[in-house]
Amino acid sequence: MQKKSLEQRYSLSVTFSHFILLKTEEIKITFNTYSSLDQLQDWQIQLIQAAEKVSYQAYAPYSKFCVGAAILLDNGEVITGTNQENAAYPSGLCAERTAIFYAKTQYPQQRVICVAVVARKEESKELLPVTPCGACRQALLEYELQQLSPIQILLRGNEGTYCEIKSLQDLLPISFNKKSLGEEAK
Ligand SMILES: [Zn+2]
Repeated sequence: MQKKSLEQRYSLSVTFSHFILLKTEEIKITFNTYSSLDQLQDWQIQLIQAAEKVSYQAYAPYSKFCVGAAILLDNGEVITGTNQENAAYPSGLCAERTAIFYAKTQYPQQRVICVAVVARKEESKELLPVTPCGACRQALLEYELQQLSPIQILLRGNEGTYCEIKSLQDLLPISFNKKSLGEEAK
């Protein structure tokens, strides 16, 4: 194959170089980190504990990476979910989406208050700090935008650190959503 010259390779950037920068914007996100479970409110502690407990029910024979999610709804119900893997890898599902889809199936009218996520290696009690993956952020954000109130995220980190994120939009700014489709959010 003939090698392209630098001019050929960068012809696009030359073509578009006449664009004028209109403005530069910064995005600020806010989250709190705590060193001890005691610093959280009782309901937050219970939600993290529910996520940890259910992580032992994860079906993760391939990755051995067990994740538990616990969702608190406006009516006080706590819905849990775990990651469900599959021999055909993409057919599996993360704990967060397992839980949120079940929650919104059983309680479609209830607002989501908070999602706690806990992860650990199979047969290990040591917990791993994880944040929801991109697809789960997208799925959760859908409901935050629909209910017009923030969904809080609680994460359990290493060595007794706990992270409290105030809103899904902090985890997924400049998102693809209803407005991207030309529809008004309801
Ligand atoms: Zn995920």
